[in-house]
Amino acid sequence: MLPKYHILYGAIFGIVIIPFIGILNSTIVFLASFLIDSDHYLRYVCVTRDFSIINSIRYFYDKSKKRLHELYIFHTVEFWLLLLLLGVYSEIFIYILLGILYHMAFDFIDMFKKGYYNVRIYSVLLWMILKI
Ligand SMILES: [Zn+2]
Repeated sequence: MLPKYHILYGAIFGIVIIPFIGILNSTIVFLASFLIDSDHYLRYVCVTRDFSIINSIRYFYDKSKKRLHELYIFHTVEFWLLLLLLGVYSEIFIYILLGILYHMAFDFIDMFKKGYYNVRIYSVLLWMILKI
């Protein structure tokens, strides 16, 4: 899903939940709902050693590249569990996790619609096993 849709849907969700968790916490949820995709840039830099944001955008919009089991660190179960654990110490991490899970719902719907079942991998452990 394009970042502009994640920002739009995240803003709507953030506004809806203001009465329940307050404006500061809903802002955290909103920011987490689209900043999670910054791991795409991190992955691009790690894979290509190129720090150009423009090139990374071109890379991800290039449909000719065959993608299989790509790992995006903020899109993994292990990262979500870490946030859950940190949530014991500060509720900020729970709000970040809420924004991420909201984001993931749209990612899953979008990937299901496009039939991209093997493009990403959602576990660091599983990714490591597949690399062996
Ligand atoms: Zn995503």
